[in-house]
Amino acid sequence: MNYNGHDIKVVWVDLDDTIIDFTANARASLTIMYDNEPLLRQLYPSEALWAETYERHNMTLWAKYNVGIIKRDFLRMERFRLPLTEAGLPDAEARTVSKRFDTLYLDLLARQKRLVPRAMELLTVLRTKKVTIGVLSNGFREVQFRKIDSAGLTPYIDTVVLSDDIGINKPDTRIFIHAMKRTADADPTHHLLIGDNLQTDISGAINAGWSAIWLNRTTVTAPSPACPDTAVEVHNLYDIIPLLIL
Ligand SMILES: [Mg+2]
Repeated sequence: MNYNGHDIKVVWVDLDDTIIDFTANARASLTIMYDNEPLLRQLYPSEALWAETYERHNMTLWAKYNVGIIKRDFLRMERFRLPLTEAGLPDAEARTVSKRFDTLYLDLLARQKRLVPRAMELLTVLRTKKVTIGVLSNGFREVQFRKIDSAGLTPYIDTVVLSDDIGINKPDTRIFIHAMKRTADADPTHHLLIGDNLQTDISGAINAGWSAIWLNRTTVTAPSPACPDTAVEVHNLYDIIPLLIL
């Protein structure tokens, strides 16, 4: 398949908020937790405040996790411990509850099915082309395969490479090299990544010598950070299809 003058053999997609609507699925999971956990209703007067507090801490922790400042187990403890202690729960109890919430939340998340608009159409078109389709994700092993399955994506995905496999996250070039090894194609010009995160996905792919398409889901009126010259920016997954030539 030709893309932008390159002979693409492998199309990699980021999973969360590129194919799977992680933001909506995560929010739905947090809402279910609030409805089912009396403790959360004691600590937080509204579901919105609970979800916003969790999301604020989670976002900060993920920014540190993506660049390797903190480890996954620390992130998974802190993203629930911090909202619990912030609302007044004693630390020891918050740690115990955080472990239970971690299991509960990841299980709820794995059951959600919402996709990013036009994701299925893009994957259906890619499936008709002579390319390998891979997932390249910083998400956790316990849930990424279940999420792919719940969302009905299994028939469209040939290979899944997770940062969890080697303990190295995007944008580190080593995970892109690991992904090329997995597909037995070490020529970076044969690889294209589609992702929503300018730092982890787009910079990472460009630095590895891959082609990159940035899915910018923010509205056109909002100022967005500059997309690198070597990457292409789209606002809708369907806009990628005309760029791919069989
Ligand atoms: Mg993403």
